[in-house]
Amino acid sequence: MEFHVITLFPEMFAALDAGLIGRARSEGLIAITAHNLREYGLGAYRQVDDAPYGGGSGMVMRPEPIAAAIDAVEGESPGLVKILMTPQGEPFSQRIAREFATAARGLMLIAGRYEGFDERVRALVDREISIGDYVLTGGELPAMVVIEAVARLLPGVLGNPASLEEESFADGELLEYPHYTRPEEFRGMRVPEVLLSGDHGKIREWRRNEARRRTGRRRPDLSGATRKG
Ligand code: SAM
Repeated sequence: MEFHVITLFPEMFAALDAGLIGRARSEGLIAITAHNLREYGLGAYRQVDDAPYGGGSGMVMRPEPIAAAIDAVEGESPGLVKILMTPQGEPFSQRIAREFATAARGLMLIAGRYEGFDERVRALVDREISIGDYVLTGGELPAMVVIEAVARLLPGVLGNPASLEEESFADGELLEYPHYTRPEEFRGMRVPEVLLSGDHGKIREWRRNEARRRTGRRRPDLSGATRKG
């Protein structure tokens, strides 16, 4: 799957060379290309921002460089879902990550800076995505969050794809059960006996119950917290 990012800081995307995503990149399972918005800037100074009409603090990203960058990327790689990274967008979730991983040919993520985008940029994209109710200085980290969440769902990216089936939010709307590894006792805290029993039926049941209990306690807003069966 192809990921294209339009950004003023393409060097930040070297961070995605690490770990499983880096391996998926080098094995050609995914391709991540950061396109420098500055190259599409206006005039000798490659201007990408300007003062807001009506006054006020900060600078606003002009629409023409972004439109030119979108057209160029689309020309090279047609059919990408175009996504504006903005704190005013649809809250990102595992459901949306799954939707992108299964239905999209590739993603074009547009990272803002300054006070954000000229309002008319919204007409150029398919989706607007927020990674949470807080404001960052730029859309690069949000774009990386989306890339990472989507890429790890693609076939062959995770070493053990079975872990996708049980993790949080995979089973509808449920947090994952607690994990334990060695030692059996740590600072007076023991691993639950059932996990040492070797009885796989009982372990499955314990994990299911713990996942529900944990979801009810930590995230009563998720539907899995009250699900029966
Ligand atoms: N003035 C904007 C507002 O109040 O909505 C915030 C602009 S923010 C300082 C600059 C850029 O960072 C945004 O254009 C967006 O691309 C990115 N950004 C910041 N927080 C984000 C979030 N929670 N989710 C997605 N993108 C975000």
